[in-house]
Amino acid sequence: MAGAKIRLCVDHPLGPGQSLPLTEAQAHYLFGVMRIGVGTALLVFNGRDGEWRAMVTAAGKRGGVLACEEQTRPQLAAPDLWLLFAPVKKARTDFIVEKAVELGAARLIPVQSDFTNAERIRPDKAAAHVREAAEQCETTFLPEVAALTPLPRLLSGWDPARRILWADESAARASGGATSPAALFASLAPGAWAILIGPEGGFSDKERAHLRSLPFVVPISLGPRILRAETAALALMTLWQAHLGDWR
Ligand code: SAM
Repeated sequence: MAGAKIRLCVDHPLGPGQSLPLTEAQAHYLFGVMRIGVGTALLVFNGRDGEWRAMVTAAGKRGGVLACEEQTRPQLAAPDLWLLFAPVKKARTDFIVEKAVELGAARLIPVQSDFTNAERIRPDKAAAHVREAAEQCETTFLPEVAALTPLPRLLSGWDPARRILWADESAARASGGATSPAALFASLAPGAWAILIGPEGGFSDKERAHLRSLPFVVPISLGPRILRAETAALALMTLWQAHLGDWR
């Protein structure tokens, strides 16, 4: 079926016969970049109603219309993993957002820590990266990107039933060595989790002391080398998925 591999994230509800008007950007992508036209089938999803096959019924430079035909996959929930991350430089933050979608995070919360540069995250741009990554990785789930939240406020209102795996770079330097990730994960139960990654400058001493005092925070070392924030996010989400998530 020509065009069926194109996946487009849309806002409208999806159902049999549902008409889906396209934005100018979507029309440009489908008809200008992908060079498809009326009569071509493609896949659409909106993060709520699963994935559907749709047909192009009108195509123009500034818009177009798709007709929803039949569901190709049901809506699936993401594993119960949130990613709390301090925004870093733009391209690296984009990378974190993209990989978080691919690795199945259910919610992304940019965190303002003592050493975070707060101007580095644009929630609208981050949401656009989420959509692009979801189109590409064939998920039907669209994680929400929350507003930048100061770390103390996030922690004071935190539901302790959701435990936080805190990537603690100081554990990597601890004399005598920290518990290995494999041993640590063997002691943890599946359920509601979040992963916390710091900025380029790491966490301040005050933040470390605060995090250590909280019973729902589990510090983890990611080995003897200091990783860039985006590497740490990728590594820890991978470990979580393999031990507690939907790769098991
Ligand atoms: N400048 C900081 C320092 O030298 O301590 C390093 C910060 S690191 C670039 C960014 C974040 O990645 C850290 O705050 C931590 O969350 C995570 N991270 C990096 N390497 C890690 C490691 N070996 N173990 C645990 N977390 C690590």
